[in-house]
Amino acid sequence: MLRYCLYCGRELAEHEGLEQLRQSVRVSFDPERERVWSVCDRCHGWSLWPHEDGYREIPRLERAVVDHAHLLYQTENVALLDANGRELIRIGRTQLPEEAWWRYGRQLRRRRAAYRSRLSLLGAATYAAVSYVGANLGLSRITGDFYPSDDLHADIMRWRWFGREAWAGRAPCPQCRSVLIRLFFYRTRFLLLLPSTERGLAVALPCSRCDPWTVDKVHRLDGAAAERVLRRVLAYHNVQGASQDELADAIRLIEDAGSAEELVGGLAAERRSLYGLGRIRRLALEISVNANAERRRLADEAAEIEAGWRQADDIAGIIEEELA
Ligand SMILES: [Zn+2]
Ligand SMILES: [Zn+2]
Repeated sequence: MLRYCLYCGRELAEHEGLEQLRQSVRVSFDPERERVWSVCDRCHGWSLWPHEDGYREIPRLERAVVDHAHLLYQTENVALLDANGRELIRIGRTQLPEEAWWRYGRQLRRRRAAYRSRLSLLGAATYAAVSYVGANLGLSRITGDFYPSDDLHADIMRWRWFGREAWAGRAPCPQCRSVLIRLFFYRTRFLLLLPSTERGLAVALPCSRCDPWTVDKVHRLDGAAAERVLRRVLAYHNVQGASQDELADAIRLIEDAGSAEELVGGLAAERRSLYGLGRIRRLALEISVNANAERRRLADEAAEIEAGWRQADDIAGIIEEELA
């Protein structure tokens, strides 16, 4: 194995051995032609391993793929996989199902850990301050006295991590022409999910002026704006992250739907509010919306990887010929 990138000289590993490679260095391998490359995380150059090293590692790489890798994306010639946090590029098509959503599930577990560790930092002073502010705003009359409940914890974390505003722009109501220019988080539980030809779903806030209200009297966002708002709003509502069991339930919903895209389309067709979905479907939706965005990014990246591989493959062919 090579410790340094052949192209830019970056140190790719501190010592010899696959495990010693930096986590951000991708390993690419072609089981058929017995070639292995380290793909530099700085210049994206593909450094070919000496043939005997590659030959020795290929069975291990193949086993890693079968045992615990998740397929993120694949093109005609390359498959991008995640194996315990290391990205592997396998040349040739695999039969594994695509699971771009899987990686986002891992992030939700991390968010839970971050949330829990931050909770312990919220001391008595914070409660005192919140109680004081709450009392002055008259909130205690509505909610009773403030006490350290999980809901209060979550609300404090939401405010610290996300602020108050979910979106700013212009979204007119088609009926009365009143324009929504700011969407505050506290109103987002009433957001409706609606079907859309762009990215599978739109989000819409019911118009507060139109009376009587019907489902077409809404401030509606479509396409990229809808996706951006929804990613942010779902992260806000799912601030506590997910436990292992909740995650398993949410992932089952995605699997039952067939794919992240189908889950999003299916929920949009039901035309429910975000809070009408319930917690597990909200988690599944967050995973799916992010996975769909990730998948588009991966498609671009896979095209680049494929171009990198073609070049590296030509060079490997020339080197092998010269050594033969
Ligand atoms: Zn490099
Ligand atoms: Zn209106």
